[in-house]
Amino acid sequence: MKAPLSFHSFIGNRPVVKILLRAVAQDRLPHALIFAGPEGVGKRTLGLLLAQQLNCLQTAKGDACDDCMSCRKIMLGTHPDVRLVQPDGAFIKIDQVRDLIAEIAYQPFEARYRVVIFDGADRMRAEAANCLLKTLEEPPSRTILILVTQKPYALLTTIRSRARLLQFGPVPEEEISNYLAGNAGRSPEDARMAAAFSNGSLGAALTFDVAQNREVRDQSLRFVSLLLRREEFSQASTLAAAVVKDKELFQAWLDMTATLLQDVYYAQTAPRRMCQRDIIPALAGLAETAPRAAVLAAIDAVKNLRGVLQLNINRQLALEALFLAALRS
Ligand SMILES: [Zn+2]
Repeated sequence: MKAPLSFHSFIGNRPVVKILLRAVAQDRLPHALIFAGPEGVGKRTLGLLLAQQLNCLQTAKGDACDDCMSCRKIMLGTHPDVRLVQPDGAFIKIDQVRDLIAEIAYQPFEARYRVVIFDGADRMRAEAANCLLKTLEEPPSRTILILVTQKPYALLTTIRSRARLLQFGPVPEEEISNYLAGNAGRSPEDARMAAAFSNGSLGAALTFDVAQNREVRDQSLRFVSLLLRREEFSQASTLAAAVVKDKELFQAWLDMTATLLQDVYYAQTAPRRMCQRDIIPALAGLAETAPRAAVLAAIDAVKNLRGVLQLNINRQLALEALFLAALRS
């Protein structure tokens, strides 16, 4: 069951939501806002929710309904007064900005407030940015401009000084996990895993492939076990052959191997810091038998391999070298 998306049910970043709600309630919303923060935390979505909040035709209990004609059009991207401007290629082009400025010189078609969201606002060349600046200097009435960016300091200082900057942070892991289990139909176990790997990005957690991650983790765990128990080289080599075929998969596998080794080290030194909590017994078992020096040597070897992965190396050979280096340590 998907709950209706609303300003009040927005996941994470409560301080930002509160500031906006208060400003809307007091009719004191600045005409230009900067939504700054990491990817996948809902900056663009909150911009659309703000547009709903300002234009809903049947607000209930202070929340936009997500159901009236206005709310629907906004989320479908068909509302004539709610515009999302995104880079056309690498940049938001001067013509995109000019067209938009010509449009907002007129009153909104049907909305109480026109809302324009510049997604990736830092990706504007000087000419386009200066064009936008003119609009910020003489803001049209009933128009809210939202500049969405991961790099607010890449915006012109003159633009920054004319807009209210709202800083978004990562979404707490627990909130992501609860959302995935409650609204996105994931099992509690899958939800926890996706949240743990999301780096505070709800967007990343929603698209996280739990099944693939589990498979990668199983393979990594087997490799770590061989590495730390200093078992058969041929087994490690066979295992390596399975993961080196695809560069992206190999990268994911290597990252996972590093995470698991780190957890084995934590199991020996600071168990509370372990990340992969659902496989603690397996990790603790390895921690018990492997000398700490061997764990540290393996962590170093994996770190080195991640460092050279950018180069066009033979992954199979590099992995075997890693295994041999760990055996010699
Ligand atoms: Zn509505």
